[in-house]
Amino acid sequence: MAEVPGTNLWFTHFTSCIEEEEFEERWTLNFNYNLQKELDAQRRAEGWKIYITSSFAKFTCRRCSNSWSSSRASMLFHYRLGRKSGLVLLRLFRQQCRECNNPIQHKPQVNSDQMDQVLDRLILKILKNCYGVPNLVEEGRVVIHRKTKPHESDLCEACRLGMCNQS
Ligand SMILES: [Zn+2]
Ligand SMILES: [Zn+2]
Repeated sequence: MAEVPGTNLWFTHFTSCIEEEEFEERWTLNFNYNLQKELDAQRRAEGWKIYITSSFAKFTCRRCSNSWSSSRASMLFHYRLGRKSGLVLLRLFRQQCRECNNPIQHKPQVNSDQMDQVLDRLILKILKNCYGVPNLVEEGRVVIHRKTKPHESDLCEACRLGMCNQS
């Protein structure tokens, strides 16, 4: 699978964010572009949980070099704490270019700060749902909405699949 520049930043940021928590179990991040927004009975029984969120991100078209920003680059996480290790699966939803009207879908490029914010929110979920630690921070969390053009649902993979983060 061809890697978009910056994609592997997710691994380094995930490692540094998760290390701060000093969990006994080793947590790993993997990409999975087949994740669904619901868990089947077997995965639920295995202890998988879901977190859907979105972030500010940039997209660059490899066809016409148009680039755009979106405050609704949706992402879907599945995560599970096993007996000795934890696993996080991430599906980044892609967007199409409006300029060249090409069906190729482009992955979001998330900068370091935004990535850390996404991962911090994910880790709060992990703390709460895998370790039973209540999220005190979450209550008062301020969500900053950056101004971008209205979301173009017909160019958004997550919208078409009914998985776009609405919040
Ligand atoms: Zn284009
Ligand atoms: Zn969407």
